[in-house]
Amino acid sequence: MLVHIVDDDAEVRAATAYLLESHGFTTRRHASGADLLSSAELDGCILLDIRMPGMNGHAVQEELARRGIALPVIVMSAHGDLGAAVRAMKLGAADFIQKPPREADLLNAIRRAEEAYRKGADRRSAGAAAQARLQRLSRRESQTLQGLLAGLSNKAIARQLDLSPRTVEMHRANMMAELGVGTLSEALRLAIDGDLAPLGDGGGALATPAAPPQAGPSTPRSDAGDVGQKLELILDASGEGTFDWNLQTGEITLSRQRVQQLGLAAESPRAERIEWVQGLMHPDDKSAYFRALEAHWAGETESYGCDYRMRSSDGSWRWQEARGRVVERDATSNTPLRMVGTVRAVTDQKQEEEKGREAAQLLDLAQRAAGAGIWEIDLATNHLHMCPRGRELHGLDPQGPAEMSMESWAQLVHPDDLPATLAAIDRAVATGEPCSAEFRVLPADPADAPRWVLALGRVMHDSEGRPTRLVGLSQDISERKAEARQSRRAQSDLIQFSGISAMDTMVSTLTHELNQPLTAMAHFARGITRRLAETGALDDESLRDALAGAERSAVLAADIVARLGSQIGSREPKRQPASLSRLVRESCALALIDADTNGIRHSLDLDRAADPVSVDPVQVQQLLLNLVRNAAEALMDVPVPRRRLHIATHRVSGDEIAVEMSDSGPGIADSVRDRLFEPFVTGKPEGTGIGLSICRNIVEAHGGRIDAGDSPEGGALFRFTLKA
Ligand code: ADP
Repeated sequence: MLVHIVDDDAEVRAATAYLLESHGFTTRRHASGADLLSSAELDGCILLDIRMPGMNGHAVQEELARRGIALPVIVMSAHGDLGAAVRAMKLGAADFIQKPPREADLLNAIRRAEEAYRKGADRRSAGAAAQARLQRLSRRESQTLQGLLAGLSNKAIARQLDLSPRTVEMHRANMMAELGVGTLSEALRLAIDGDLAPLGDGGGALATPAAPPQAGPSTPRSDAGDVGQKLELILDASGEGTFDWNLQTGEITLSRQRVQQLGLAAESPRAERIEWVQGLMHPDDKSAYFRALEAHWAGETESYGCDYRMRSSDGSWRWQEARGRVVERDATSNTPLRMVGTVRAVTDQKQEEEKGREAAQLLDLAQRAAGAGIWEIDLATNHLHMCPRGRELHGLDPQGPAEMSMESWAQLVHPDDLPATLAAIDRAVATGEPCSAEFRVLPADPADAPRWVLALGRVMHDSEGRPTRLVGLSQDISERKAEARQSRRAQSDLIQFSGISAMDTMVSTLTHELNQPLTAMAHFARGITRRLAETGALDDESLRDALAGAERSAVLAADIVARLGSQIGSREPKRQPASLSRLVRESCALALIDADTNGIRHSLDLDRAADPVSVDPVQVQQLLLNLVRNAAEALMDVPVPRRRLHIATHRVSGDEIAVEMSDSGPGIADSVRDRLFEPFVTGKPEGTGIGLSICRNIVEAHGGRIDAGDSPEGGALFRFTLKA
């Protein structure tokens, strides 16, 4: 039997191979999931590490399923990481074992997988048999199994069922006996085959908006024959583009017209990946697009319709109106398989609407500016002209002279704020970019609190392009500053929490890192023992004892480390009803306190259907804060007018929500891209590289996934899901 060992740690790969080969197995080693998937010889069974950088074990399983490769997969997960194990089983894993595996567990798992593979286990008859066995369980035993299926520890199950942990332990033991199984993974396999719902959950499958959930072997039911081609012929003359999207493979065929709509030269239809097409879409329009798609996929709408902006090859945004319909569904599961539709360019009409919106925004700005002072600096004379309200803001008599020198004005400003304000003015004059500065005006009575003023300005040029004047508005922002001080206090509370959690991450990382070499040591020791036994050298008692001692010590150390890790790592989310929209808003307020100074504009697209959620609010806020803070830091590297952050939330399915955060910063550096969520990976000179690994822990503790990529604006895009 051939065993593929997929693990990112070279020592673990070598040691596991050494041990298995000493038992007569042939092995192939793969340093990553991608390595496995590109392997020419896919046969035998796969021993898969769940936690790997780049493509993790779950993603490898999904890709195997997508390619129709049905080899038995045994996943290896860290001690106590039951959630990951359950998810692996749901994705079709034959078995799971904990790292570091004991020799007997490893061999048994491989033999079981081998046997199941040989029998070609029929899922449906397995389902009926599993259900018959599950019938034997009492209500409590069944609930305990459902809890385990939800990835909960005994303690958490006890809390949910309002029982003591000891009682749950008893039900768990009885449940195993009743089902006639020896390991937890066998029990979970039965629960999954028998379609048992996880505790407190509808048992929804994981769906990503880019591709609908896929059912097993499909028997396509087609409504449409070759609708795509016919539409192509009919619509070619009408100026509409058509698409034909294979939802299973993610391939989309675009008609000649459609390719031209995207601003590309086209002689004939063109096949593309759907991700490429979606990547051209304006980030602000994506959540509405995914919502419309999902509603239609779920059968809630007769047809799909959505307006969105697409980036054309010349960089401009073009409005398009898409209409479409699913024309093929899986006969048994009703999963959509194929979709066709048309797309029409509606640039003119939408541009008018956009202009209208801009005008409304300007109006809004003007309204908000009510109460603001107007000022103007003559760059030739360096004289400042202020309206009465502007003088009042500076603590001067509104009716006094309108003009003063910049030197006199400087006397009114707090000396700590003067250099930055003058620098902002110089920069605006030199670059022509808008200027923004905040400064304190010294009060007439030094006992009074100083007033905070925000000044915004723009350079005016003469007909030859020379800067002549700087004109702008000034506004009293003392109140907002006071609020910001308040928020900063709240922020420091959270930061304190981050400190504790960073410590947790540090410990659980160390346990994970130590586990690998300890596993390797134990495997090497066992392998050496077996090989020496064949040569007769083990007749030497002292050598035998020394080898057994080395193995025992490695296993003992691994046990201690695993126990330590499980205590720290078991910080389960304290779920309670919370508003995701509020958490997003608060996190932005906290993380972007200095946004006005830094000029970050952020926009939110909050799906009300995603409220309320059942999550740990403190953890989720910390997750959001980390991501927003990272984005804010990245945005400091681009010029002020380009600093934008967009956050969208939406409900993916009944119990799953998704949050997408895209920024217009420099994007993720290639040096960290592949290992972004690993602890201690940082692209910053002063960074710790802990933030994103905490984010991943929180997301995974909530049964979700996090990944990162490029935003259409060229910055970073982080997307995560949570089971809520
Ligand atoms: P730290 O911020 O301490 O470096 P993190 O784990 O939070 O640790 O982030 C790891 C690295 O990921 C960062 O150093 C940075 O290089 C990259 N990164 C995170 N968020 C972004 C973003 N929005 N844009 C660009 N790079 C990012």
